[in-house]
Amino acid sequence: MNDEKQKCQKCGSENIMMVEYTHDHPEHYDGASEIECRDCGAHFGRWSGKELAEGEVEPRYGTVRA
Ligand SMILES: [Zn+2]
Repeated sequence: MNDEKQKCQKCGSENIMMVEYTHDHPEHYDGASEIECRDCGAHFGRWSGKELAEGEVEPRYGTVRA
C-alpha cells in the first residue's frame, strides 16, 4: 500500500471508508476488503479496484478461489 490518499474512483471524493467483512462472511479477510464512498455510495474492491454491484463482494486478494 502506498500512503497516497484513497479516492472514490467514481466521483473523486475523499470521503470514503474501508469496509471489513465479518468473521462469518465467506470472503472474510483480516482487514478491509472494500472501499465505500460516503458521497455517492459506490463500493470498490480493495484489490481489484473495480466497482462492486449491490450484493457483489470482493474476494480475498481479489482472486476467486477455484
Ligand atoms: Zn463517490
